[in-house]
Amino acid sequence: MTPRKVRDIEYQLLPGSERTTTDIVIERDGTIVVRPPVNYTPEQADAVVESKRMWIYRNLAEWKDLNASAVAREWVNGETFLYLGSAYRLVLVSEQDCALQLKDGRFCLSRSLIEQGGTVAARQAFEQYFADKGAQRFAERVAYFAPKVGIVVAAIKVKDMGYRWASCGSSGILNFHWKCMMAPPRIIDYIVVHELCHFHHRNHSDAYWNEVDKVMPDYRERKEWLRKHGASLEV
Ligand SMILES: [Zn+2]
Repeated sequence: MTPRKVRDIEYQLLPGSERTTTDIVIERDGTIVVRPPVNYTPEQADAVVESKRMWIYRNLAEWKDLNASAVAREWVNGETFLYLGSAYRLVLVSEQDCALQLKDGRFCLSRSLIEQGGTVAARQAFEQYFADKGAQRFAERVAYFAPKVGIVVAAIKVKDMGYRWASCGSSGILNFHWKCMMAPPRIIDYIVVHELCHFHHRNHSDAYWNEVDKVMPDYRERKEWLRKHGASLEV
């Protein structure tokens, strides 16, 4: 097979067949495969593809429709997402200005978003949602706890932090993983206090845990919850 391109149509050119007409097929994975008569040059095959352009566009569009709705159906079927410790079912909605919102106890995801961008776009919409909501919540909770811990925070960032929940930079910047927003509020508070106390002790010494204990006497139970359930907080 030789890859070729006519205008915006990319296709795979097969060796010629004994037939007198050119076969154009759209495979299950969306690849366009062209088999010309045996004596055709590649340029002649290009010309046939060019002349069948409208047929190809129409069939490709049909293939995309079928495929996108299959992917969307598969992804949405029975999916639930955690937010602040509660599970919400996902529904696809056709008319919605934003990519994702929590409404009437359901996560409403834009149908066109998943049809155009697939599950990658859907996951991104969740990450963005958690990051936006996280920026608000962490700002509020840090403002509440920072004076109790007796420190001043320079800035807060919510982002993907890999396997870590949070970190505190030496310049007074706190980073939180957007995934924290899937945990219950009291666990989010523990994550906040945990990081704030690192401003006093950059380790997990007894002196450090003593600081945590002063602000959050029941921290052990919250810490244990995170240890047990942290791995289940996945999109
Ligand atoms: Zn720590």
